[in-house]
Amino acid sequence: MVKLHEQILRDAHQSMLATRMRTEDMLPIADKLDQVGYFSLEVWGGATFDVCIRYLNEDPWERLKKLKKAIPNTPLQMLERAMNIVAYWNFPDDVVKKFIYFAKKNGCDYFRIFDALNDLRNMEVPMKAVKENGGHVQACLSYTISPVHTVEYFVEKFEELVKMGADSLCIKDMAGMISPQRAYDIIRGCKDAGIKLEIDLHSHCTSGMTGMAYQRAVEAGVDILDTDISPISGGTAAPATESVVAALQGTEWDTGYDLKLLIEIRKYFLKVWDKYRHLHRFNALKVDPSVTLHQIPGGMLSNLIFQLEEQGAHDKYQEILVETARVREELGYPPLVTPTSQVVGVQAVMNVLHGRYKVITKETKDYCRGMYGTPPAPIKPEIMKKILGPKWKDEVIDCRPSDLLEPLWDKRKKELQEIDGGSLIKKEEDIMTYILYPQVGLKFLKGEAKAEFTSDQLPLPIDHPLTRAMVKQSFPEHKQIWLETEPPEKRLGPVQIPTEFEVEVDGEPYEVKVVPTGGFAVSPGAGETVAAKPKDVEGAVKTNMQGTILGVKVKKGDKVKKGDVIATIEAMKMEQEIKSERDGEVKDIFVKEGDTVSSGDIIMQIL
Ligand code: MN
Repeated sequence: MVKLHEQILRDAHQSMLATRMRTEDMLPIADKLDQVGYFSLEVWGGATFDVCIRYLNEDPWERLKKLKKAIPNTPLQMLERAMNIVAYWNFPDDVVKKFIYFAKKNGCDYFRIFDALNDLRNMEVPMKAVKENGGHVQACLSYTISPVHTVEYFVEKFEELVKMGADSLCIKDMAGMISPQRAYDIIRGCKDAGIKLEIDLHSHCTSGMTGMAYQRAVEAGVDILDTDISPISGGTAAPATESVVAALQGTEWDTGYDLKLLIEIRKYFLKVWDKYRHLHRFNALKVDPSVTLHQIPGGMLSNLIFQLEEQGAHDKYQEILVETARVREELGYPPLVTPTSQVVGVQAVMNVLHGRYKVITKETKDYCRGMYGTPPAPIKPEIMKKILGPKWKDEVIDCRPSDLLEPLWDKRKKELQEIDGGSLIKKEEDIMTYILYPQVGLKFLKGEAKAEFTSDQLPLPIDHPLTRAMVKQSFPEHKQIWLETEPPEKRLGPVQIPTEFEVEVDGEPYEVKVVPTGGFAVSPGAGETVAAKPKDVEGAVKTNMQGTILGVKVKKGDKVKKGDVIATIEAMKMEQEIKSERDGEVKDIFVKEGDTVSSGDIIMQIL
């Protein structure tokens, strides 16, 4: 008998609806989902925490509590990014332990824990914490293809995870590129090695091979498969639950689930799918077998395309693909999953735009220092030298990255207590929200977060910017139809050369407007306006990337030397330093923290 792990309330909408499913869409069907008899239901973690507070004005802790109450019989599972928890950087042990405690307390039973580099040291603390709180550890390995990621590699790592106290195991094929034979070999390899724990296969339909891979996994003895109820399955999501149940009916692997009940659940989710029609993307529904060749996950590709357009270099796409594979090899074949996909992708873009390793991001340096963990294969000395300089050996850490971090809970708690007389802390979990997402979390706790729109507005009206984005994408050559989606006052005029473009990153539509100053103003969703930047001045310091100013390191009147860091910019989700190119005095500063800048913008005058 094979069991299923249902992803409809987490990965399905993360893969196909930009993680936007709301708690109110989940609760009415909770009772029926609870009756299926799933191995577990994944409902929390991954990107859902971030999206709840950033875009939905929903408290993720409340969601978990409500779901637990509505689903008393099926174990609830979350996806936990080891020391990154549900964010993108390392946290100290005290925060990880507290988080697991709160997650268990509020209703999470099973914890799927993975590390981007499969560095098991990063998994120790969360695994131990789950055990101490009485939870189930599903220890997970990120799947990728490389000369070091052999069948033996996976079997040996799984054996170690068994010793570390795992309760079940999972192969996480986040890019959907596992072939039927690989799935068979790894699972058979584990069983032949005497691993008794149940093994779960998590995959996506991206490559088009996943149905076949699931069949071979079943033949090899897989115990659990990850699926999504059908209206939100296939394409970049997982295979459909009902299809897998039907396929295995009458075989020795029969799930025993009630297909009629599943079809009732499907009917419910058809309405949910329709409600979010503004987020439907045709490309996400298609298979993309090219992943089998270049091995770059789909989500990362769309990100790369967006980043190239942002930097005005979309003609470099093919070059970037080749460079990405090369950088990944040089950096020791990391699996391309958050956050390593960004490290490799952005460095590849830099290499193509500015010359190989001429511009190096802070994240690439940190990665080479071992700040994410140990890379799967050693990085060659000549590459280390290029990235960290001649004394690279002194910079590399050999301890577990979080060993270098000071405890954070008490410090952050005190900080939060001092804001508005401590009134923001309604429950201890609020401190955790603030620690995980200091800016976005604080805004949320202050009650300043706004849902991007309320459910009353759904389906969105025809002239909503998000509807327009969908129409433009679906009918790129029929500009007349676009006009239908314009507000009434705009519909009358003749079709003009478009000055607005919609691009998408991580499923989030962005409106890009060409503004008269010649720069680009990029604003999320419905669009805020961005101030025009100054004209050219003598001693101008210009940006070479589109991005957001993270920090201004100098004041007007400061004396600076050539090479001093004068500002930091976040471009392509990576932090980069802007250095002064001359000795002089800061005469004027044209940007502040949080400003959006485009390539070539003047941020400062130094004379
Ligand atoms: Mn996934």
